[in-house]
Amino acid sequence: LRAEERLSSNIARVTDPRRLRHLHEVHRARRGDTLTVGIEEGGIGRATITGLTGHAVELALDELECAPPPPLPVHLLLALPRPRMLARTLENIAALGAKELTLLHTARVEKSFWQSPELSESRIRDHLVLGLEQARDTRLPRVGMAPRFRPFVEDELPALIEGRRALLAHPGQSVACPYRLPPGESVTLMIGPEGGFVDYEVERLQAAGFEGVHLGERILRVETAVVALLSRLF
Ligand code: SAM
Repeated sequence: LRAEERLSSNIARVTDPRRLRHLHEVHRARRGDTLTVGIEEGGIGRATITGLTGHAVELALDELECAPPPPLPVHLLLALPRPRMLARTLENIAALGAKELTLLHTARVEKSFWQSPELSESRIRDHLVLGLEQARDTRLPRVGMAPRFRPFVEDELPALIEGRRALLAHPGQSVACPYRLPPGESVTLMIGPEGGFVDYEVERLQAAGFEGVHLGERILRVETAVVALLSRLF
């Protein structure tokens, strides 16, 4: 169970209607029941239900049993994948633990993808939460949207890569993606859309400071490339 609100050091509250329904209808929860709970700003532990209505469940937290692993010091810039790929891609990113994610428009992203209901805040959050739960983490990556490539690259990118390593995953590059960056090194990563980057984008990003790297000779789907890249670096 995830608790969205922490009222004090040892009291948390669940108000999300779907979670409440699940607690009432599937678990038949009662006052006094104990369960494992994840607190949104960090930590997983045992808790006892102390109050229970149709609108909220109040929990008394025991000591948090495990601090979640720190998210990787990564800002992932991901060309917006097709909507049916987005769920698994987001789940994988959250499970591996990136700090920040920006969904980005590039030439081979279809404009209609930006209208997809999959891009609603709540859907994105749901997919990320599934990945976090898998990894017993509770901290959501910060998510941003950059629906226009050129203004993003000109106005926002320089500050995002200043003082950081910046890697562009692009098949066919002569340099292989490094294994294991020094602990704590911050990095900005870019992954392209299903159709890949166009030449202009690669040139523009390399001019901005990205190193082009390959992930081997096989061309990977976006959801797989995300895993290959993140798990190789840390
Ligand atoms: N035909 C496209 C191309 O050649 O760029 C394939 C794009 S691939 C399905 C989607 C994205 O995953 C790529 O833009 C890249 O960022 C990443 N990717 C997949 N396989 C890769 C590899 N072997 N090396 C580097 N990046 C890869």
